[in-house]
Amino acid sequence: MTTYPELQLYIAGAWRSGKDTIPVLNPADESVIGALPIASRADLDDALEAAGRGFKIWSQTAPAKRAEVILRAVALMKARSEEIAHSITLEHGKPIAQARLEVQRGCEFFEWDAGEAVRAYGRVIPSAPDIRYIVIHQPVGTVAAFSPWNFPMSQPARKIAGALASGCSIILKAAEETPAGALHIARAFHEAGLPAGVLNLVFGVPSDISSYLIPKEQVRLVAFTGSTAVGKHLTEIASRSVTPVLMELGGHAPVIVCDDVDPEVAAALSVSRKARNAGQVCTSPTRFFVHKDIYRPFLNAFAERARAIRIGDGFDSATDMGPVANHRRVEAIESLVEDARARGARILAGGERPAGKGYFYPLTVAAELPDGARALEIEPFGPLALINPVDSIDEAIEQANALPFGLAAYGFTHSARNAHLLAERIEAGNVSINTLEASVAETPFGGVKESGYGREGGAEGLHHYMTVKNISHRMV
Ligand code: NAD
Repeated sequence: MTTYPELQLYIAGAWRSGKDTIPVLNPADESVIGALPIASRADLDDALEAAGRGFKIWSQTAPAKRAEVILRAVALMKARSEEIAHSITLEHGKPIAQARLEVQRGCEFFEWDAGEAVRAYGRVIPSAPDIRYIVIHQPVGTVAAFSPWNFPMSQPARKIAGALASGCSIILKAAEETPAGALHIARAFHEAGLPAGVLNLVFGVPSDISSYLIPKEQVRLVAFTGSTAVGKHLTEIASRSVTPVLMELGGHAPVIVCDDVDPEVAAALSVSRKARNAGQVCTSPTRFFVHKDIYRPFLNAFAERARAIRIGDGFDSATDMGPVANHRRVEAIESLVEDARARGARILAGGERPAGKGYFYPLTVAAELPDGARALEIEPFGPLALINPVDSIDEAIEQANALPFGLAAYGFTHSARNAHLLAERIEAGNVSINTLEASVAETPFGGVKESGYGREGGAEGLHHYMTVKNISHRMV
């Protein structure tokens, strides 16, 4: 298998090294796998200038031509999917099968947005016979985007796809801990003939880069995926120049299990979904509210299956769940579990960090958590499931809506009435019934409340990357 790629910045259509570098680690054994260059102020200035020039060219490129370039890059990524998946598992730790699915999903985001590029329709509004009002959508300008480390390739893909399909240029600061996913994308676009400056890829100290780029007059959209705390901070910076934002932030997804389902079936699906990406997904099913009549069988089945989840190196075919991506996640989960234990919750699976190298933490099940347990309020963003009994669907919905988050929510029921109640009353951008898939490329994804603002994917996916212009045209 190929080795980890050489890490570089991509600015103005050329690859650059940096004077300063930071090490990139393999979370499975903490070994150093790469040296990541840090962008200097001069690099950022060059990226801004290049993005300005790139925007002039790309915004004047026909949408069908843009789609052609995007699809050419996708073909290259598909041809290299094994190499990209290998890089993802090395830098992130997830099982290679999940890394392959991530590459496929990232390609789907590009394909969908490429299709939307040619469908960014406006409309004609009838008024007086001699005047027409024409509404058109135009690319917003240069986008400053920030993608996180949980999906090294598909997270950058979301943002690059939206920007490029719309005719924007983009400066992406991808996650320093998992840079290769974004690097492979830039490489594919470079070879696919994307004009220089349309896509720029930088790395560095996140706060230095965001505080430098966002206030620039040229930056017309800030697109961020990450924690609510950082999202609020970046929104505040953007507000000073009235720069719009697209914010995909934290979640703490509730799962409501009604009394009319088979608890074993619901538990089996829930455990495999919880283990995906070691729980480091903003839509990961986390707070389980289970009807008291099926609580015991659900809990027992869940705990038994969770104990059977094998943790290990992502390249080992026996591994169900890899390490978490960094030491911060291990410490965060450890502290939430300790707090739950101290408050009297029952730990039915996991709950202890294994000895040895690597950021491993087992799939952990905490049950009967009392009010005030920190895990019920703070997004664990790791392999921790919280399971509590409820008396009724009304109580479950109240609990689900009790937090300031509203990203993904799930329900298991065969009752049309219950399904209707869940879909109507849960405060979330995405509600899924009898499936734990929150979104696909064709559907809009995003949050309400403190989970964010705006949507990625679906027919809504390009809206934030475009402005609306009304043209009043009188016949003379
Ligand atoms: P963090 O809050 O420090 O960082 C979250 C992300 O924001 C990272 O990608 C980081 O590089 C970036 N970031 C941090 N400060 C920034 C700044 N000033 N400017 C620009 N980018 C900045 O925490 P972390 O330990 O890296 O991640 C853990 C938390 O992040 C989790 O609790 C989870 O809520 C959230 N997260 C969410 C997603 C998601 O898909 N919504 C993905 C990754 C992390």
